[in-house]
Amino acid sequence: MRLHVVDHPLVAHKLTILRDKDTDSPTFRRLADELVTLLAYEATREVRVQPTTIVTPVAPATGVRLSAPKPLVVPILRAGLGMLDGMSRLVPTAEVGFLGMIRDEHTLQASTYATRLPDDLSGRQVFLLDPMLATGGTLVAAIHYVVERGATDVTAICLLAAPEGVAAVESAFGADAPITVVVAGLDERLNDVGYIVPGLGDAGDRLYGVV
Ligand code: URA
Repeated sequence: MRLHVVDHPLVAHKLTILRDKDTDSPTFRRLADELVTLLAYEATREVRVQPTTIVTPVAPATGVRLSAPKPLVVPILRAGLGMLDGMSRLVPTAEVGFLGMIRDEHTLQASTYATRLPDDLSGRQVFLLDPMLATGGTLVAAIHYVVERGATDVTAICLLAAPEGVAAVESAFGADAPITVVVAGLDERLNDVGYIVPGLGDAGDRLYGVV
């Protein structure tokens, strides 16, 4: 497993405003969207392409296009939905699937309540979107789900991670697994109710309000 903490002053600037408890929901949504586009640029560094030829107005030229099968982007509902536009802006031709997962607030265990994904993910590059890698329960369950359906290469894009969550993914799949986690920040720890410290609070609530 590879952890990539994106080190860029614009990412750090936007993340700081995102964390601020006085940042309102519309601003939070816009910043999350912009951050995901910046993270997606790093996360797609290994996206598969194939050579192609085109003709410019001046001369024939060689270049590359995204290979088939197209990458699959999977926001993990609810909060991952707030990351979809930022990702799609960079990879508009990617296909999109959905995975609805919820974690029990007492046991912190993740369970799946909705799925809309192709049955066969053989050979697919999958990009999972989940803003907070906290205990790792949700991301481990989501990675299992796509790997069992044949995904060969999984990249998770998260805004923030706790060391405990990174360790959980690594212990579930091993250090050599073809899994990459791209984050804007790696925080100190989890608190006793499973929130990332200092974190940014409940990402779903900050994006969409408390339900
Ligand atoms: N989920 C969140 O939204 N925030 C956390 O800090 C941890 C999990």
